[in-house]
Amino acid sequence: TEFEQFLDESGNLHFNEDATLVDYVERNVRDQADTLAYRFIDYSRERDGEAQDLTWAQFGKRLRAVAARLQQVTKPGDRVAILAPQSLEYVIGFFAALYASNIAVPLFSPDEPGHTDRLTAVLADCKPTAILTSTKSAEAVRDFFAGVPAKERPRVIAVDAVPDSVGSSWVAPVAGKDHNRDTVAYLQYTSGSTRVPAGVEITYEAVAANCLQIYDCIEIDRNARGVTWLPMFHDMGLLTVILPALGGRYITIMSPQAFVRRPGRWIKELAAASDGAETYAAAPNFAYEHAAARGLPKDGEHLDLSNVIGLINGSEPVTVSSMKKFNDAFGPYGLPKTAIKPCYGMAEATLFVSATQRNNEAKIVYVDRDELNAGHMKVVDQHAPNAVAQVSCGQVALSQWATIVDAAEYDETGKAVEKADGEVGEIWLHGLNIGAGYWNKADESEATFHNTVDTPLEQGSHTDGAPADAQWMRTGDYGVWLDGELYITGRVKDLVIVDGRNHYPQDLEFSAQEASTALRPGFVAAFAVPANQLPSVVFENAASGLKFDADDASEQLVIVAERGPGKKTDPQEIADTVRAAVARRHGVMARDVLLVPAGSIPRTSSGKIARRATKTAYVDGRLRGGYKQDAFPDSV
Ligand code: ATP
Ligand code: MG
Repeated sequence: TEFEQFLDESGNLHFNEDATLVDYVERNVRDQADTLAYRFIDYSRERDGEAQDLTWAQFGKRLRAVAARLQQVTKPGDRVAILAPQSLEYVIGFFAALYASNIAVPLFSPDEPGHTDRLTAVLADCKPTAILTSTKSAEAVRDFFAGVPAKERPRVIAVDAVPDSVGSSWVAPVAGKDHNRDTVAYLQYTSGSTRVPAGVEITYEAVAANCLQIYDCIEIDRNARGVTWLPMFHDMGLLTVILPALGGRYITIMSPQAFVRRPGRWIKELAAASDGAETYAAAPNFAYEHAAARGLPKDGEHLDLSNVIGLINGSEPVTVSSMKKFNDAFGPYGLPKTAIKPCYGMAEATLFVSATQRNNEAKIVYVDRDELNAGHMKVVDQHAPNAVAQVSCGQVALSQWATIVDAAEYDETGKAVEKADGEVGEIWLHGLNIGAGYWNKADESEATFHNTVDTPLEQGSHTDGAPADAQWMRTGDYGVWLDGELYITGRVKDLVIVDGRNHYPQDLEFSAQEASTALRPGFVAAFAVPANQLPSVVFENAASGLKFDADDASEQLVIVAERGPGKKTDPQEIADTVRAAVARRHGVMARDVLLVPAGSIPRTSSGKIARRATKTAYVDGRLRGGYKQDAFPDSV
């Protein structure tokens, strides 16, 4: 198959030519000119949507035109940011930046509400020479830069306003001369769950490797097509639209709003069609729950999901309940039980790290909570009193290595010791798909991307097969290998440590939201605060069981939760219920359970809870004053 040209004798990924994404797209433009490359379904006017199609030939024509325009105003290596709404223009803009030998920076239109601070921070970091947008958003983009002195303002180009004829002056970059495998193709900014987003430098080799790893894992072949509504500034959304460059069929794109309003639209496009194609998609955990609740077909409407081969569930912890609800909802319509693929990934790895194999169902184990918090996976019966569910993220991708390292030991002694299976530690990664570093951040790049495993296990090491001089990337995530399955247990930075005992915040949050229906599920944040930084109301409330002591800097648990809709029960009553449940289940006292209005808890532009930002807003008192999150808190 076509795939084999990228494998060496030992079956590992290997690139022996300098071809890049630009060359792969050009090959499609040449060899599959009249084949559909992308379809965008616009639901903004018609409820059933209006399809806009691009063949490879049309796509190539647009890329030449926009790239030629970029070449008039930029130099190779200049950053070109894409600030467009979800559209075909977005995809064209991204690839056109590569066609012009620029470094693409996939971002979002400033009329996207709530995240202007994030946009400002990221633009100040990457300093683009030009901005690609669409005529629809051009005004919002110009307004956004209005305050910048004219000399420093980037050039704004509306992709759809560039005539095809401009393309005749395009100078094609030559692989091996103008760029090669190590050239940075684009900057993938992290979500910013724990910090100001950092721009990961994704090389041409990393992105090609990661696409091939995804095809290999989900077994995407020439007859499979994808459906996406994920924003393209998110790594999972971006990779989905890059995939057709190297293989598979076309991608159907819709906007996130179109999905959220009617998730059935996504399901309908995934369903079997007369083309007989297998289908796949990727989405974070909440989307599966949303689709199960609101995306079922109306009575009697035909729906056949037997052709769905892979639904990647990643980027946030995968819950048992969302998978169950989704399978229960769509199983009767032929959805294979193997379709949902819990998956682990991150911007530093381009996107994809591990997933459940094509023919396997998602694997769930129940482990003892106290043992887990102490760093050991001890499998127990599902109904054991202390049982906590862990969803496996499957096996690592082809030519991707993941090993578990004792992070505390490393921070203390600088020695990286590999941990045995069943033992929790920090996940370290090696592979061609790992980014080159963080843009503009030499020290963080060194600390994150350039590490060596000093003491691999003598037997059953997960470093086996990786080069002896391999550089390893620290993920900042805790995880564990057990029976050939990789489990992600939580972020190092978010771990709650009280009285010398560890608690995973998502576990505490889950218990809290289960204890009271007054809490909005998924909108709860647990974190620790030094006792002497707690607000005075906490000490005035007898239920906290704490007296103020200026010298007491011991970490104490705080839970902040958004109020769900419905009847307004007394907050003290709700807090008491939650406190009791958390104490019983976790043996830890929540000194404060603060209920806040919907929309108060800071989230990233991809919708993840930002616990550290929540803590900052809590400590400085903003959360208590009916604080509304209106921008990404870049100051934390
Ligand atoms: P930042 O690094 O800026 O704080 P972020 O880590 O959320 O933000 P991303 O690279 O978009 O930015 O997200 C990757 C992270 O998401 C992983 O490191 C991990 O913490 C989390 N994650 C991804 N997949 C899973 C999963 N299946 N289960 C649990 N956590 C996951
Ligand atoms: Mg991260």
